Amino acid sequence: RPGIFYKVDIVIIGAGQAGLSAAYHLRKLGIAPGTGFVVLDDEFGAGGAWQHRWDSLTLSTVNGISDLPGMGFTEAVNTEEIALQANIAVPKYYEQYEKTFDLPVIRPIRVNEVREQNGRFIVRTNGVQFSARGLINATGTWKTPHCPKYPGWEKFQGQQLHTGEYSHAKAFVGKHVIIVGGGISAIQLLGEISKVTETTWVTRRPPDFRDEEFMADLGREAVAIVDKRVREGLPPTSVVSVTGLPITPAIKEMLTSGTLDYKPMFTEITETGVRWADGTTQDADVIFWNTGFRHSLDHLAPLQLMNDKNGIVMSGKLATQVARDPRIHLTGYGPSASTIGANRAGRAAAKELIEFLQL
Ligand code: FAD
Repeated sequence: RPGIFYKVDIVIIGAGQAGLSAAYHLRKLGIAPGTGFVVLDDEFGAGGAWQHRWDSLTLSTVNGISDLPGMGFTEAVNTEEIALQANIAVPKYYEQYEKTFDLPVIRPIRVNEVREQNGRFIVRTNGVQFSARGLINATGTWKTPHCPKYPGWEKFQGQQLHTGEYSHAKAFVGKHVIIVGGGISAIQLLGEISKVTETTWVTRRPPDFRDEEFMADLGREAVAIVDKRVREGLPPTSVVSVTGLPITPAIKEMLTSGTLDYKPMFTEITETGVRWADGTTQDADVIFWNTGFRHSLDHLAPLQLMNDKNGIVMSGKLATQVARDPRIHLTGYGPSASTIGANRAGRAAAKELIEFLQL
């Protein structure tokens, strides 16, 4: 009912890897599920963003999914029985995880905004309203696709879609598809779409391929770079933009077959396709934007955490704590925007928040 608030110590927003890890650690550190903390998630089922990944993304084609703390993937999922499609297997794992640790996930419930009132956070949702002393925001990026607007955008008569809307390559048979972007998703999807139809690949920056053997070190280096950025209050960059792309066997094959022949970014979109600065054109039926995602933080706008650089100054052991308000942690943000990062961030956030709130 309006005006009635359910009081808890901590609200976690989001039940993906970052939210579940934080929930596990709060519980382990003695915070009571339900009365001490709740997890609010706007999906109908478990799985966070993983339930929406495209069908051809399997556990062998993902970059690697870290186990959540306390229960391994194979303890939860019988890999012989279940399809290894990431959008089935990972949600199954999270579902089992939530049950095993009896995590107080409430869904579907969307947090529309968080405000501060009399020293507490008022969490306004499309359902029950909450009042909390601390906040762990773990809302990921999937709900905020990023599409740069090029001149002529609205004129194009064909289809435009973003990575988040992709389902399978068959939908494009017989169509010319322009694939935009230089990241892992662009390249993986170029690989499968180019097998069934004509494609043109365009990217703003030449792809930066690296030998896979160096990836572990580069991963650490990349996390350190993004960590430094957010501590300085700069907007986080994606970890891949810092590490470059691993040359996996699939990419090796694409390099050999010439599929990875890229063009620079076009300068204009026309009714029938795209035009480059030198006047060359390419007709197309589909422009497929694989141009990334941004952190989903709009519901936190009333808290005015953003600075004039569009960043948030972060602090704490793993840069999960909002420097100007240590009662707020952002997990899965910046350096922790990976499954392994989200795990660690959940632990750090739970520990630091309990200490700060003296729970
Ligand atoms: P999510 O899994 O997105 O969970 C956030 C949850 O919060 C969702 O359930 C969402 O619906 C909910 N939510 C959002 N806003 C609200 C709101 N206002 N109110 C209530 N609920 C809300 N990382 C890896 O480590 N390995 C990989 O192989 C890998 N592959 C990737 C492939 C793609 C295409 C993309 C885009 C990312 C990939 N990542 C990968 C990064 C990946 O997103 C993270 O690793 C991780 O899964 C994100 O977890 P999360 O908990 O931060 O977010």
